[in-house]
Amino acid sequence: MNIRQLPDTLVNQIAAGEVVERPASVVKELVENALDAGALRVDIDLEEGGVRLVRVRDDGGGIAADDLPLAVSRHATSKIASLDDLEAVATLGFRGEALPSIASVSRFSIASRRPDDAHGAVLAVDGGRVAAVAPRPHPPGTTVEVRDLFYNVPARRKFLRAERTELGHIEEWLRSLALSRPDVELRVSHNGKPSRRYKGGGALFSDERLNETLGGEFAKHALRVEHEGAGLRLHGWIAQPAYSRASADQQYLYANGRAVRDRSVAHAVRQAYADVLYHGRQPAYVLFLELEPARVDVNVHPAKHEVRFRDARLVHDFVYRTLHDALAETRAGLQPVPAM
Ligand code: ADP
Ligand code: MG
Repeated sequence: MNIRQLPDTLVNQIAAGEVVERPASVVKELVENALDAGALRVDIDLEEGGVRLVRVRDDGGGIAADDLPLAVSRHATSKIASLDDLEAVATLGFRGEALPSIASVSRFSIASRRPDDAHGAVLAVDGGRVAAVAPRPHPPGTTVEVRDLFYNVPARRKFLRAERTELGHIEEWLRSLALSRPDVELRVSHNGKPSRRYKGGGALFSDERLNETLGGEFAKHALRVEHEGAGLRLHGWIAQPAYSRASADQQYLYANGRAVRDRSVAHAVRQAYADVLYHGRQPAYVLFLELEPARVDVNVHPAKHEVRFRDARLVHDFVYRTLHDALAETRAGLQPVPAM
């Protein structure tokens, strides 16, 4: 067979395989765009667990009508312009591929207006086919609508789960976002009914948001953590051993504000709890790690769930030491667990 250049739509659909796993990935990408645009209020309307509809409306900076086609083009981004920018990236997005990917596997539209523009505009994309930009009244900010996810990719559609399960994934992601952005108001509706609301305007690191997201029991047993050194800063809450979990369902780690999973940090936490938790029990924690952007690589995977720390050992030991010390009092009050 001859070598040929693939058409754009197919390239985007292939990329969608990495970026868009399920409706929760759509919500993540759209809400992250809203936050990158400076939104302080984000409305998320869902139908049928997000499979039928995900609509995200924000009050952020908006997009110029002329730029709408670029927003849905591959590798087009307003967030970085050079490799230096990439190394210091402070926005949640930077790859310029979420919107084209999502638009290639759904019935998609994006409507927007910048605060100083007289008129808004809308651009529709159906399964990757881009229509012309049309005028559309819109308050300052942006609305993205994603209907019938994977309608043109039956193989992917098959992997979607029941409405409740998909909704659960969305709510779980929103919880982790709400923990890190108490300044933003998030309103969610499902099948036309309000289903979740996080009040905005809160201070970072407020006990109130912890209560709102993870419940009073965690909050009651929370120990505040705050430690700085070697260019690293760790703050947040860890639960006293008296509040442990059967699964790792309340373990939240953020690197420079981005929710991430990291095996080495997870290991450091486990070690810090090793002698105060019963075997098989999981600690609960919400930890924010702050470090110079150049010391953490966020460009490891398209979905950006993982990061790579330049000095992983240092980060590991810093987390271990900080939590070990924070748990010292707990440890002093404990009877030693007899060796088996
Ligand atoms: P990335 O976020 O990696 O830049 P996306 O495909 O998610 O790529 O978005 C492409 C571009 O569209 C963004 O860089 C941004 O300029 C613009 N954009 C997308 N969503 C919004 C929004 N809600 N508000 C303002 N601009 C947006
Ligand atoms: Mg994005």
